[in-house]
Amino acid sequence: MYIGVGSNLNEPVNQVQNAIEELAEIPDTMRVLVSTLVHSPPLGECAQPDYINAVVALVTQLAPESLLDILQRIESEHGRTRSGKRWDARTLDLDILVFGARRIATERLTVPHPHLHERSFVLGPLNELAPDLWITGLGAVRVLAQQIDFSELQPLTEYGHRKTIGAN
Ligand code: ATP
Ligand code: CA
Ligand code: CA
Repeated sequence: MYIGVGSNLNEPVNQVQNAIEELAEIPDTMRVLVSTLVHSPPLGECAQPDYINAVVALVTQLAPESLLDILQRIESEHGRTRSGKRWDARTLDLDILVFGARRIATERLTVPHPHLHERSFVLGPLNELAPDLWITGLGAVRVLAQQIDFSELQPLTEYGHRKTIGAN
């Protein structure tokens, strides 16, 4: 089970790092892998700060809806308010990307996450953790990642600074 973590408000690196620790505390759940943090420009038209994202692998005995309840509670505890506008700036966003081989289509949950195959900030970290993962309906992460432009994605160092890619 893979969770996408994102933030672009109130010290996003801290928001993401703290959320990653909180994911390790979820009952009946084990955190097994954490990706590198990545930096990327925002989606959508409105001007807003850049994003920090990561992907976390969990093994859980919880049902998907129970997990979503907990993820939304963690978002609220990070001061997330919902403007009603999609892709608006947020202190914390926790998305269920993949839940085993499950396909879920309810009012509250669409799994696999409907946009994961087109987002560099999801596929980059996911490909780091699980290149062989098969996404129901989409195929292997490694192959999906080959179709993505990663030019605007910058990995962070362990100190939260952006790494320089290429020579300069
Ligand atoms: P996007 O889905 O494009 O990444 P978003 O993360 O900004 O957009 P939110 O405002 O965080 O969207 O969530 C809106 C609703 O999406 C939530 O209330 C939740 O019920 C629903 N949702 C559907 N599928 C998922 C999923 N796989 N993970 C998390 N939330 C989901
Ligand atoms: Ca999201
Ligand atoms: Ca979300």
